[in-house]
Amino acid sequence: MQKFPQFLKTNCCSLAWSIAKRTAVTQQNVNTNSNRIRIVEVGPRDGLQNEPKLLPAATKIELIDRLSETGLTSIEATSFVSAKWVPQMGDNAEVFRGIRKVPGISYPVLTPNLKGFESALEAGAEEVAVFGAASDAFSLKNVNCTAAEAIERFRPVLKAAQKHGGIRVRGYVSTVVGCPYEGAISPLAVVKVVEALHEMGCYEISLGDTIGVGTPGSVRRMLDEVVKAVPPENLAVHCHDTYGQALSNILVSLDYGIRVVDASVSGLGGCPYARGASGNAATEDVIYMLHGLGLETGVQLEKLIGVGRYICSQLGRPSESNVNRAWKGTTTT
Ligand SMILES: [Zn+2]
Repeated sequence: MQKFPQFLKTNCCSLAWSIAKRTAVTQQNVNTNSNRIRIVEVGPRDGLQNEPKLLPAATKIELIDRLSETGLTSIEATSFVSAKWVPQMGDNAEVFRGIRKVPGISYPVLTPNLKGFESALEAGAEEVAVFGAASDAFSLKNVNCTAAEAIERFRPVLKAAQKHGGIRVRGYVSTVVGCPYEGAISPLAVVKVVEALHEMGCYEISLGDTIGVGTPGSVRRMLDEVVKAVPPENLAVHCHDTYGQALSNILVSLDYGIRVVDASVSGLGGCPYARGASGNAATEDVIYMLHGLGLETGVQLEKLIGVGRYICSQLGRPSESNVNRAWKGTTTT
């Protein structure tokens, strides 16, 4: 009889269902029956991009280098988007070239179009990420076309990545449960976009509750449909914590066999002074929960807490991580 990890054995009936449904076939080092969780650290990009304070490239490089020493294996480094749109990422090539590339760690960068892809390639990127939204209203407001049309713009990037063999492409889908303009999002709208990215060749698609309105209920309804279309070994979750539900939502996604979780050190990206604007789930909190469940991440929590304290001191703001604030260990910045 196949042996399942303790965590899976003790969990609820949806797990039994999802295990029965899945095969042991895995891709890209993700095993949906595994006790191993891969964290994609998005603080240096998704986090800093949404911080009001602009940091010098040297500080960003220091942040990424310190993160590389914590045991993380995926660290999103920067975004090759026009500095006109996102001034916080205007130093992308300098940051990417400046970081120490530790063997075994992937440093994906965001590439909004072919031009961004080419610049990323020139700087030496080996993994890139493209992004779309599940909500038509959000897409129309931001890029003036529907969600499906917006996704089509990435086809040339995926083609170019294939041509340069070895360049992996990750896909992001934002507003997977709620949208600031449209309200609740239909799970089938999410399926459409996720399927399109999967079919285009994204090795993994990160499901983003980018405004952090999801609950375990709405996340379940969304995942019920999405895992029918794309296997959980090709999915990740990306939960913002606006309503304090991020950890619960991540926990629910584990039930579906999802083993890749995006998180941002110290919850970077949420402005502590603006009401209702909250960052990603804090990596420290996610790691603490996962380790408490007996799951493995390979990340040394105490080291990560030190990195969180370092970057918060650089930004002049408190950590958004409960674990970091509560930690009374010997960690120094
Ligand atoms: Zn995010």
